[in-house]
Amino acid sequence: MKNISCEKCLEDIIDKDDLVVINKGLFSIVPYHYKCYVEEMKSFYSSLLSKPINTRVSTIETIMLFCIMTIVRFFYSDSYLVIIFWILSILGIIIRLYSFFKYEK
Ligand SMILES: [Zn+2]
Repeated sequence: MKNISCEKCLEDIIDKDDLVVINKGLFSIVPYHYKCYVEEMKSFYSSLLSKPINTRVSTIETIMLFCIMTIVRFFYSDSYLVIIFWILSILGIIIRLYSFFKYEK
């Protein structure tokens, strides 16, 4: 595992199982220790805007959203709203891949 520092305590994250990568805000992807992540989530603001992206559930959600939006886009290809949501679902895939290659691999 690469040398990754926790965003909260700035110590190295040694164990891969202790790593929580979250999507903070729109485009900020940051690593945390699990205990630091739990501490961070105690604030109302953080719990609303931060979502872990390196969990199995999150990966399945991202892939399913992309598949659903691709099917919807196939049937409603004229709708700008559908195209925007389809592009956002592609962005979800890109964020997941970024997290995997930067922190988890
Ligand atoms: Zn930490």
